[in-house]
Amino acid sequence: MKQDIKNFNLNELRVCLSVIGLKPYMAEQIFDWIYKKGRKSFSEMSNISRRGRLILEERFYVGNLCLLKDLKSNDDTRKFLFELSDKKSIETVFIPANKRSTVCLSSQVGCRFKCLFCASGRSFLRNLTPSEITSQVSCVLNITKQPVSHIVFMGIGEPMDNYDSVLKAIRILNSPYAFNIGARRITISTSGIIPAIKKLKNEGLQFELSVSLHSADGVLRNKLMPVNKKYPLKNLISCVKDYISYTNRQVTFEYVLMAGVNDALSSADKLSKLLSNLNCKVNLIIFNKTDDARFQPLNKKDVLAFKDRLLRNGTHTTIRLSRGQDIGAACGQLRIEHTQENYKLG
Ligand code: SAH
Repeated sequence: MKQDIKNFNLNELRVCLSVIGLKPYMAEQIFDWIYKKGRKSFSEMSNISRRGRLILEERFYVGNLCLLKDLKSNDDTRKFLFELSDKKSIETVFIPANKRSTVCLSSQVGCRFKCLFCASGRSFLRNLTPSEITSQVSCVLNITKQPVSHIVFMGIGEPMDNYDSVLKAIRILNSPYAFNIGARRITISTSGIIPAIKKLKNEGLQFELSVSLHSADGVLRNKLMPVNKKYPLKNLISCVKDYISYTNRQVTFEYVLMAGVNDALSSADKLSKLLSNLNCKVNLIIFNKTDDARFQPLNKKDVLAFKDRLLRNGTHTTIRLSRGQDIGAACGQLRIEHTQENYKLG
């Protein structure tokens, strides 16, 4: 059976090429054609010998995604629904800004972690392959014709539950022979999978780590994020502390503000206390409405009051601008709508 060549990192491809009697340096040429030039067929790779191209074609194919939907927000955010080869679908978001443009990637089809407020966790189907992860960037580049400067793993899925594929994809995104996106411009967001955070610190890559906290209270966090039962706050914070001292990098804690749930000023005080003495910052996120009416965003005034309280407590805090609200930017929403549509049709 043919293999998807986009599931190999550069070193693996070099080894693989030499095993099948081709020159290892061809790996750089193939990377250039696929990732820099966005080509999808070996026959176009004109600096590779005819024999080489035939051998490649016999053994490999170049994975791709199929565009199902392209929604444009009035703030220029674009959300894409892509179909995978087994007809499952994932979402990718393109967020252009003045000097940077960010692609928000999915790492799994659905999610196993079932955060109460999150639309992605309603089902879990499977992990994405490295090819399916990097293809989201290739497709966005191809559709928008705009450069991509930043990557965030904040789409559907828990990236640290698909560790090997996500790390392989990150190395390809970072490779000068492929996307050449600086590691510091790549953010991994996790719900707090402790063994994965421990592993990450030894990867030797300078990516950004974000940890979704959403509450500094163990009882509430158990409810909002069931993952807290397996990896409780106390252990999580001590693991992040180790990560910070080992890597010497600041970590971001994400905190989605939900009205009447985790927005009391006493919650802000608890948060500051939990994070005191850590080289970290809190990123407050405005909740994106889903079809679950239990969770509602805060008004601007209350968001600012929460931020102000954290700042006064000495906690470094920023607010993440919410983009694409009119196109259902919350993770997993579009996919759910699409699947329901399919059910209706079926
Ligand atoms: N599994 C990873 C990545 C998920 S998405 C994680 O948990 O970090 C990135 C962030 O979006 C997470 O902090 C997640 O909790 C948050 N999120 C989920 N649903 C949201 C919604 N409706 N509005 C705003 N943020 C949401």
